[in-house]
Amino acid sequence: MIKKLLLILCLLFFYLNNSKAQNSLDYYLPDSLTYNPAIPTPASVLGFEIGDWHLSHDQLVYYMRVLAQASDRITLEEYGRTHEKRPLLVLTITSPENQQNIAQIQKDHVQLSDPKNSGSLDTEKMPSVVRLSYSVHGNEASGANSSALVAYHLAAGQSTQMDELLDKVIILLDPCINPDGFQRFSTWVNMHKSYQTVSDPISREFNEPFPRGRTNHYWFDVNRDWLLLQHPESQGRVANFHAWKPNILTDHHEMGSNSSFFFQPGVPSRNNPNTPARNLELTRAIGKYHAAALDAIGSLYYSEEGFDDFYYGKGSTYPDINGGIGILFEQASARGHAQDTDNGVLTFGFAIRNQFTASLSTLRAALGMRTTLLDYQRDFYKNAPKSKGAYVFGNSYDEARNYHLYQLLTQHQIEVYALDQEFSAEGKKFQKGKAFVVPLDQPQARLINTLFEKVTTFEDSIFYDISAWTMPLAFNLPYTKVGTVPSHSKDKVTQVPEGKLIGDKSEVGYLFHWDSYYAPRALHQILDSGLRAKVATRTATIPQNEDEIKLEYGSVFIPASGQILSDDGLKVFLSQIAKTNALTMYALPTGLTENGIDLGSSDMEALKHPRPMMIIGDGVNSYDAGEVWHLLDQRYQMPLTMVEQGQFSRADLSQYNTIIMVDGNYNDLNDSIAKIREWLQAGNTLICFSSANRWAIQQGLVNLKFKTLPSVDTLLSRYADRENLRGAQELGGAIFEAELDLTHPLGYGFRDSKMAVFKDNRLFAEMPSSTFNVPLKHTDNPRLSGYISKENLNLLKNSPVVSVNHYGRGQIISFLINPNFRAFWYGSNKLFANALFFGKVIGR
Ligand SMILES: [Zn+2]
Repeated sequence: MIKKLLLILCLLFFYLNNSKAQNSLDYYLPDSLTYNPAIPTPASVLGFEIGDWHLSHDQLVYYMRVLAQASDRITLEEYGRTHEKRPLLVLTITSPENQQNIAQIQKDHVQLSDPKNSGSLDTEKMPSVVRLSYSVHGNEASGANSSALVAYHLAAGQSTQMDELLDKVIILLDPCINPDGFQRFSTWVNMHKSYQTVSDPISREFNEPFPRGRTNHYWFDVNRDWLLLQHPESQGRVANFHAWKPNILTDHHEMGSNSSFFFQPGVPSRNNPNTPARNLELTRAIGKYHAAALDAIGSLYYSEEGFDDFYYGKGSTYPDINGGIGILFEQASARGHAQDTDNGVLTFGFAIRNQFTASLSTLRAALGMRTTLLDYQRDFYKNAPKSKGAYVFGNSYDEARNYHLYQLLTQHQIEVYALDQEFSAEGKKFQKGKAFVVPLDQPQARLINTLFEKVTTFEDSIFYDISAWTMPLAFNLPYTKVGTVPSHSKDKVTQVPEGKLIGDKSEVGYLFHWDSYYAPRALHQILDSGLRAKVATRTATIPQNEDEIKLEYGSVFIPASGQILSDDGLKVFLSQIAKTNALTMYALPTGLTENGIDLGSSDMEALKHPRPMMIIGDGVNSYDAGEVWHLLDQRYQMPLTMVEQGQFSRADLSQYNTIIMVDGNYNDLNDSIAKIREWLQAGNTLICFSSANRWAIQQGLVNLKFKTLPSVDTLLSRYADRENLRGAQELGGAIFEAELDLTHPLGYGFRDSKMAVFKDNRLFAEMPSSTFNVPLKHTDNPRLSGYISKENLNLLKNSPVVSVNHYGRGQIISFLINPNFRAFWYGSNKLFANALFFGKVIGR
């Protein structure tokens, strides 16, 4: 027995002496090459080894700047700033000779994607281009931490293989895609790190509080924004992407701590059909390089399961519709410095080494498959579906929405032009200058297709993310596809068109319609200045000389009398409001109208300035909350108080007339229910999204009954089928038609009673008896685009989308959809704005 123990001890001693110390350069780097001592190592600059502590973003940036200074293989560029003004960097790494000639190399490479000019290029002589992009999710930190090692290795490594790599591959290294989230997470884990390793998963180090470090400043998932481009991180990154059009783009993530390592391809049947089949073959071929490299260090891995390439808004899928290959890496997360898992203690260093290894195997693939990848890129554009026609989109009254879709498309290098003469098709009229033309015969034809098509048939019934993103539906804009390209202007549009005041100073007052996207911002500015405003709850026409001005449902009237500004001052102020908010403001000649209410009518309801509070914190869906915060702060430029559930009982509710509860679990508010009831009775407005309505129903505030979801378990015959059967009943996110009551305050500002809404929950309510309190409901055949099971679709038909309940003098507005989804659903934001501004106007 003692002998045996001694033997084990001896073996252990032998092993320890021969193993490389964790978190040393020896542990991470291959030993097949030497390193130039003139290039500073991470530890020499940072004072600790990579993996010992989590790099803060500042430290990462500092090290990259030092490297770029020291190496003639690296140039460094700042391609943008985050919301919190952190720099977004990309390092261009290649041989010093290529660096001398980089502008020409870049120009030739981009030309490969232009079928008019790509024919003359000799891909044998061209380098391939790889974009390594790390830690889009800030709390998946091994990627960004490994980027320091990758950059060091490429700057300092000396071997003939390294020379060949740097000669034949241009490496664009983006050390951290989401600096704001990354900084949040690094602060959290470092502040809880002990010098004695604590790997107990329940320890605070591994359990970040709301909103966690995954997302950006406004709690958006930056890895859903590649297609949507609503944030500076993505706007800068996608501009930089198209400046180079890489052949391979890597996207380094982390997943659950008990897993291993994943590389793409994902589930083949879930590839988006707009991606050529050849993409999958190449992704598999690249995967062989990862497998060999991970085998060599003894790391386990998997592919072709779990993840997919369906939604183009992710970093690993966006390249697939742009002539390149996107590769998703998922590493089991230490979520701190070392954590106990099913596979033993998972260290941060181990996670970093896998990310580093996969970065290098990607570069090896880019070298080995260089001409194959370049030829694929050229063919991708040469063979894009040819079509002569065009999409036309735009409405005549809200140019801001037209512009924002135009802006989104052009950032994807799609050619879009302003319509320059009136045009009709399919009974839709498009006006000159108020509609845009997207010709189909252009290099980005495939991308245009996915942005405009409605999809209702799918090969698979499980989706990692949303299944529909039909842009004109999200912007609620009329659009059509036509066989010939209508007449258009080549002039670029560079901003939202300015609004204007029509007419002169008025003794009566001024009016604007609510159908402009920025009308809520204008109304906020008016009320915030201490001016009085009223909203029309009925219609009329106001004669003006030969012409007339329509008083619509939701038109906002600013009376001239009794204001804190003089008549002159009011006119100057309101013309500025009109100009900066893309509004038409009318100076009214008279308060007497025809065919309706006069302006002194009590159906012109006085408006109160919204003073909103949103409840946040653990239990609350941070995405939905972030979307409300972003909408109010960025678009409407309104302040929003955000209160933790745990702090709510201390809040003085008399300071607020609107409380917003997005999707979430609000059981922590149960003790405050008396306070909320009293506040509602006083005439205030509670806005509930999705599952917040469950809480409101339990508290007796909302009278809605949810339908029972179908159980598919009865259909289950084989154990192995259970995940697929159940998964098919999920609703990842799709687009549905709804019918809007345009006379209801929640319908103000819309002109068409049919609209598209986005739904990603399975809350299907029964129709209440007083249907006039359901201003928005699904139609009989509601699916417009995206996946939904037939069982769920049956429950969805004719069900409420938005409903109103009264409590005392107050009201509760229930949304069973998300009107602010990922900030690109411009078309339904106004439903939410209506709840905010007009909740109080809704009568019984
Ligand atoms: Zn991730």
